[in-house]
Amino acid sequence: MRPYPFTAIVGMAELRLALVLSAISPAIGGVLVRGEKGTAKSTMVRALAGLLPGVDVVEGCRFSCDPAAPDPACPDGPHAADVAAHRRPARLVELPVGAAEDRVVGSLDLERALSEGVTDYQPGLLAGAHRGLLYVDEVNLLHDHLVDTLLDAAAMGRVTVEREGVSVSHAARFVLIGTMNPEEGELRPQLLDRFGLTVEVASSRDAAQRVEVVRRRLAYEAAPDDFAEGYADAEAALAADIAAAQRLVPSVTLSDDALLQIAEVCAAFEVDGMRADIVTARTAAAHAAWCGRDTVTTEDIRVAARLALPHRRRRNPFDAPGIDEEQLEEALRDAEPPEQGPPDDEGPDDDGPGPGSGGEPEPSDADGQPANGQGGSAGERQVGAGSPYRARLFTVDGTGSGAHGRRSRAVTDSGRTVGVRPAGVRDGGAHLLATVRAAAPHQLSRGRSGPGLVVRPHDVRYALREGKEGNLVLFCVDASGSMGARSRMREVKSAVLSLLLDAYQRRDKVGLVTFRAAQAEVALPPTISVDAAASRLEALPTGGRTPLAEGLLRAAEVLRVESLRDPRRRPLLVVVTDGRATSGPDAVARAHTAAGLLAGTGVTSVVLDCETGRMRLGLGAELAAHLGGEHVALGDVAAETLTREVKRRAA
Ligand SMILES: [Zn+2]
Repeated sequence: MRPYPFTAIVGMAELRLALVLSAISPAIGGVLVRGEKGTAKSTMVRALAGLLPGVDVVEGCRFSCDPAAPDPACPDGPHAADVAAHRRPARLVELPVGAAEDRVVGSLDLERALSEGVTDYQPGLLAGAHRGLLYVDEVNLLHDHLVDTLLDAAAMGRVTVEREGVSVSHAARFVLIGTMNPEEGELRPQLLDRFGLTVEVASSRDAAQRVEVVRRRLAYEAAPDDFAEGYADAEAALAADIAAAQRLVPSVTLSDDALLQIAEVCAAFEVDGMRADIVTARTAAAHAAWCGRDTVTTEDIRVAARLALPHRRRRNPFDAPGIDEEQLEEALRDAEPPEQGPPDDEGPDDDGPGPGSGGEPEPSDADGQPANGQGGSAGERQVGAGSPYRARLFTVDGTGSGAHGRRSRAVTDSGRTVGVRPAGVRDGGAHLLATVRAAAPHQLSRGRSGPGLVVRPHDVRYALREGKEGNLVLFCVDASGSMGARSRMREVKSAVLSLLLDAYQRRDKVGLVTFRAAQAEVALPPTISVDAAASRLEALPTGGRTPLAEGLLRAAEVLRVESLRDPRRRPLLVVVTDGRATSGPDAVARAHTAAGLLAGTGVTSVVLDCETGRMRLGLGAELAAHLGGEHVALGDVAAETLTREVKRRAA
């Protein structure tokens, strides 16, 4: 069955352009496509492979060596200068988010290495993607250790596999393309920075366009080959345009004026480092080539900036993406040389992304929401959070075995070797010494004669490694009137926002339970979308009595359900309260009973005490004692406070 043709995709001009430019110039560094489900972003990425020129490869080399310049370290090499070669189509290799590390980087057969002294290396997905495209759908859900592997490979252009002293290395240069739905969680900043370009896609709001999308989809599904045949000429023409632009790129010149303009634009958007300037320059050059020019114009830089800058200027995951068009125009004008070519020189298939084509809503102001006057009890209001800060680290006690992350200690399949797994447990990398020890007593009975050790598969022992896991950080937040003044609620929200930002960086799941007036509610069920948690927090109304016991019981219920759903992910409960309880009879005693019940489940908890003022009741510390948890004053959540405290004590 032929894939859906690239040229049959309706709309999405900006994505089309970004993909084409990164195909013209792989040095740009690929594309990250952000958008909701059902926007055909994957279809478009998969269709791109068909447009790339074929690659010449050495006959029989599993690592796609270029006959003109074979990899000197190629595991299938060395290749002779006159080696046989053939041309094959460029590949698109898909990396599934749940892939095991061996499948990605390849596997070394330790048994053969030990017993026969042969380095038997099976190439992985990264070897397959060399000189082609590597596509990661849901790239934001990729495991941390795979992200690290990918970052290493992208930075070095090589993959190196080391297993107990045996090392194999091969070239792996690929165009990285990722798609993600930002509602399902954000990307680690290091990985975000690896992508040359980003594009936001949204479904078209235009009825006629939507009809056309459906019509073509149905036609394709009814007769895929016939449908694709109808676009064969358009595909061939586009492929020829891309190949022509590829040949032109090396001769495109970037004048000093153009470089200055790029520097001006990057400075105006306060991007970090030099990477943005380089990517913008490469993209502008690719766009010039795509338009058939050998000189970079202001329009090339404008197009490049829109694609290369949005994700580099984001300060934290809660900021809205996109760049300010007015600011861009201003920066371009400021550095514009006096004489300038015609600005409206568009590419052959470029609809020209206009302002706002990203379809993303305007950034909402994070500050001072007005009182919400509808319904609600007297005194209900909304207070926004202040800016987040670096929070100190809270961890779950003991050693877990949860998903990779950066919070608590855990047994993982990467990280520091701390011991040997029991015989028969195959998990992670091999442990050489333990394997030799297991095989040694049997050498005589196995009739060993040569120098090699006779190793059987059941001798192989695996290393027990310790790394870090992500956790479920469940916030249980008092939003009642007892939280008092507006300024204090702002402080509470800032602290929780800071912890959410921290949770995002540590790959945690987060959840939010709130209690106020007569009830407790799950404001956000456990999710990896920290953005969602931040916006729920922002909109959280406050006021009314304090049903602390109800809040704790609700939290206990969320933890119970989550432990069934995701049993290996250990929870950390963060109760944000001053410890006061005022709803119903014996409110404080009931809260302490609920806390005891939570303590009985073994959950690690922290009480962030919001009590302030001269007359303190110390109820927060009491609650922490009942929870068997840590007691931390709200003002001590910032990591700086802790550092200052340590310094003060040391002085
Ligand atoms: Zn080779």
